[in-house]
Amino acid sequence: MHTDTEHQRAVVFDIQRGAMTDGPGLRTTIFLKGCPLRCPWCHNPESQRRTPQTVRTVRGEEKTYGRIMTVDEVLCIVERDRAYYEASGGGLTISGGEPMYSFPFTLELARRTQGAGISVALDTSGFGSRNQWATLRPHLDLVLFDYKVTDPEQHREWTGHPRQPILDNLGYLLDEGVSVLLRCPIIPGYNDHEAHFDAIRELARHPGVLQVELMPYHETGCYKYDELHMPYALSDIRAPSAAEIDAWNNKLKDLPFARTIIHKQTRMQDNSEKKI
Ligand code: SF4
Repeated sequence: MHTDTEHQRAVVFDIQRGAMTDGPGLRTTIFLKGCPLRCPWCHNPESQRRTPQTVRTVRGEEKTYGRIMTVDEVLCIVERDRAYYEASGGGLTISGGEPMYSFPFTLELARRTQGAGISVALDTSGFGSRNQWATLRPHLDLVLFDYKVTDPEQHREWTGHPRQPILDNLGYLLDEGVSVLLRCPIIPGYNDHEAHFDAIRELARHPGVLQVELMPYHETGCYKYDELHMPYALSDIRAPSAAEIDAWNNKLKDLPFARTIIHKQTRMQDNSEKKI
């Protein structure tokens, strides 16, 4: 029996079984509520506040984002698809929000999942202290690491968080031999410029970066800003066309392991994944 402590509980706002775009194989992705960043393009604004939030939908129904779950409850769900993980090379992906913001729970879940013989990936903005990363690292098989903004001032202005500690964490993980999948949200008018793609290419040179994923801006989660009574700063921005996405892909055509993820569908530019 495990005690019901902070290590054992977190607020979960979604669980997706059979996920195909959160790391290799078929995965169960658990989304933890709470994130210290404030990216204006965030398509999961309900993930930002750590506590559950009850809203009224456009149809007038009451809906609550987030519920408290224990590690045991999550593990029980993760275990259900063990056969699929084994057949496909998949496993658990812990996502958010920012899972490092719920560090004690994330550590416990990763430790116990890996102990049960299931592969663990972490989907992160790179937030977190060096001590936290050093403690968690042995329990991770893969890190899906966001790379958002290249200019330090713009990074701080847009995300509300300095860029350098995030880059330092990425460097630390790579130096420690952790496998990294670099995830790059591309937002028209924000980071769809040459210097940013150059920086992505530079980061991808490290042998520990197994794959680069471009994640073009989409408008799927915009309605949630209304529900949550949050202002949406990107209401004038439209999702890029297929031609624009192709142009972005071409900027990375020298990376044979780059691909583009379009929301829940996978649009393969070149899926010759490097090592995963
Ligand atoms: S890091 Fe992710 S969850 Fe947090 S605000 Fe940015 S996009 Fe949203």
